[in-house]
Amino acid sequence: MKSAESLYERIVEASPYPVYLCSGEDLVITVANNAALKVWGKDKSILGMRFLHALPEHTEQSLITLIQEVYDSGKADQSIKNSVELLFNDEKKIVIYNYNFQAMRNELGSITGVLCFATDVTNDELLEVNASNEKLVSSNEELAVANEELIDIQERMREQAIEKQVALDRLKAQEGNIKNMVNQAPVGMCIVQGDPLYAVEVNDIFLNLIGKTREELSVNPFWTVNAEIAVHYEPIINNVFATGTSFHADEHEMMLIRSGKEEIVNVDFVYEPMLDEQNKAYAIMIVGIDVTDKVVARKKLQRAEESLRLAMEAAGLGSFSINPATKEFKVSPSMKTFFGVDSNESISFETAINQIHEDYRSMVVKNLEAVFTNNTKFDMEYPILGYSDGQTRWVRAVGRMQNVDGTEALTGVLNDITEKRKDEERKNDFIGMVSHELKTPLTSMRGYVQMLLLKMRKQDDEFVVSSLEKTNTQIGKMTTMINGFLNVSRLESGKIHIDHKLFDLAQLVKETEEESLNTISSHKIIFAPVETTMVNADRDKIGQVINNLISNAVKYSVAGTTIYVACVTVGTRALISVRDEGMGIKPQDASKIFERYYRVEGTQMFSISGFGIGLYLCAEIIHRHEGEIWVDSDFGRGSTFSFSLPVVSPETDQA
Ligand code: ADP
Repeated sequence: MKSAESLYERIVEASPYPVYLCSGEDLVITVANNAALKVWGKDKSILGMRFLHALPEHTEQSLITLIQEVYDSGKADQSIKNSVELLFNDEKKIVIYNYNFQAMRNELGSITGVLCFATDVTNDELLEVNASNEKLVSSNEELAVANEELIDIQERMREQAIEKQVALDRLKAQEGNIKNMVNQAPVGMCIVQGDPLYAVEVNDIFLNLIGKTREELSVNPFWTVNAEIAVHYEPIINNVFATGTSFHADEHEMMLIRSGKEEIVNVDFVYEPMLDEQNKAYAIMIVGIDVTDKVVARKKLQRAEESLRLAMEAAGLGSFSINPATKEFKVSPSMKTFFGVDSNESISFETAINQIHEDYRSMVVKNLEAVFTNNTKFDMEYPILGYSDGQTRWVRAVGRMQNVDGTEALTGVLNDITEKRKDEERKNDFIGMVSHELKTPLTSMRGYVQMLLLKMRKQDDEFVVSSLEKTNTQIGKMTTMINGFLNVSRLESGKIHIDHKLFDLAQLVKETEEESLNTISSHKIIFAPVETTMVNADRDKIGQVINNLISNAVKYSVAGTTIYVACVTVGTRALISVRDEGMGIKPQDASKIFERYYRVEGTQMFSISGFGIGLYLCAEIIHRHEGEIWVDSDFGRGSTFSFSLPVVSPETDQA
C-alpha cells in the first residue's frame, strides 16, 4: 500500500501542473505537489492545514467557493482559470492554469474530499487573445476604413458646401457684376425686363443719351418714358425677346425728347438678349452711344471734301495717291484727263509713268523713290503725253508721304501748268530773241572798243585807255549776261544739247587753271593736283560750270582771299569743288540758290550784279549728266560748291 501510495505521490509530484487534494468537511489540504506550492508560493508546511487557513489570500476568490460547491454537490467538471506570475530559470512568465475540481468519493460513494488538478492553458489563452486581438485589429481596420469613408463623405459634403457657396457667391457676384458693368460702362447701358417693360438697371450715360431721369424710368414702363421712339423700336425689342437674336443699329437718326426738348440725334446701339438656361430671353441689354458729333463732323468733312474737290476741279487740280508697297495708284477723275484717259477709265501706276515725257521719266521715278524711302517732299514739273489723245500737257506734281486710312502713301495734287508753260515759252522765246538781237551789236561794239584800245595805247593817253578798258570789261559782263539769258531760253525750250564725249577732267581743270591765272588778279587761286579722271560728258558745258563756280567765288568774296579748286575721285564719281572764303550762304538759302532767277537778299548784294541764272544753268547741265550739285557753307566764312559726275573706269571704257 505504502509503495502504492508513494507511487501515487510520485505521480502527483511528477505532474508539472498544480495538483492538490482538500479532504473532509474542513477541506484540509492533504496533498499538494510542488507545482501547486509554487503557484501559491508556499511550502509543505501547509499540508494538513485547512485551505481556508492555509491560503487565506484565496478565500476571497471564487476558488474556495468552488471547492466548497464541488464538495457539497459533487458536481463534476467545475473549472476555473487563473493566471499567475512564476519564475522559470530566473525568468518571470505569466502562466494561465485551468483548475479542474473533482469530488473524491469513498467506496460508499460519499464525498470525502475535492481533488484539484490544473492544466496550463497559457498558449490557448494567448491564441484566444491573439484571435480576439486580430478580430480587434480587423474590426479596427474596418473601423478605420469606415472612418476614412466617413471622412471622405464629410470632405465631399464640405466640398459640395463650398461649391454651393461659390456658386451662390458667383451668382451674387454676377448680379453685382451686371450692376457694376452697367454703372461703370463707358457707353450708355440699360437692362430692360418684364411685361410691361421696365428698366431694371441703367447708367447715367444712358439717361443722358435718352434725356430722361432715373426716377421717370423707375416708376414708369420703358416705352411710356420713351414714347417718341416706341413706334419704331418697341416692335424691334419685342422681336429680340421672341427670337433671342440681337439687333445692331449704326448711326440711327432719331428724334428724342431730351429734358422736354425735341432733338435729332444719331445713335449706334445694340439690343442684346440675356438668355436663361432654356436659351429664352428674359431681359435685354441695350448698349448705346451718341454718335451725333461724329456724324455731324463727318458730314461737315464730306461737305468740305466736296467743296475742295469742286475747287480743285475749278482750279484745274487733280489729286493722287501712290502706295509705295503695292504701287496702287489712285487719282481723282479730273486728273485722269491729264493723262488723256476717260474719267471713268482706270489708270495704273505703270501707265501713268509711261505717259511722262521720256526726257523726264527717269528723273520722276528717281524722285518718287527718294520720297518713298526718305520721306522727302515731291515737287516736280514735267510734261505728260495724253494716252489716247497724244496731247502734251505740262503738270506740276506736289506731294508728300501721308497716312491714309492706316497706310502710308504719297498723297498730293497735280496741277495742269500747260498754259503757264506756254507763257514761259513765249517769254523765253522773247528773251532768246532779244538776247540774240542784242548780241550782234554788242559784238561789233566790243570789236570797235578793242580796236580803239589798240590805237589809243600807242598815243599814250592814259585816261582814254583806262576808260576804254573799263568799257571793254563792261561789254564783257554784258555779253556774259546776255549769253546767260540766251542759254536759259535755249534750255527751257529744250534747245540745249548735251554733246557727250570721253575726256580727261584733269586736262580740263588744267586749262581752267591757266585761264583763271591769266584773268583773275584780285584773288589767289590754288588748284590742287588732279589725277587722270575720265568722264563721258559735254566738255564745254562742264568747263562752263567750273568757270561759273570760280567767277561766283570771286564775285562773293573780298579781294585778297583765297579760292581753292580740287577734283578727286570718290568711288565711281568724280568730285569737283570750288571753295572760297567769302560771305557764305544761310541754310535757308542754300537749297534755293539753284532755282531760276533766285538771288539771296541782303545789303551786301546791292553792289553785286546778277540775275540769278548762273547756278540754275549749272544745275541743269549737271543734272543732265546724271550728276549732283550742292553747296556746303558756313555763313560769313565761306562756301564750297561741289558737283559730281560718273567716272568712266578703264574697264568700262574698253567694253
Ligand atoms: P547771280 O550770281 O547772277 O546772282 P547765281 O545763280 O550764280 O546768280 O547765284 C545765285 C545766288 O547764289 C547769288 O545771287 C548769290 O546770292 C548766291 N551765291 C552764288 N555763289 C555764291 C558764293 N560763292 N558765295 C556766296 N553766295 C553765292
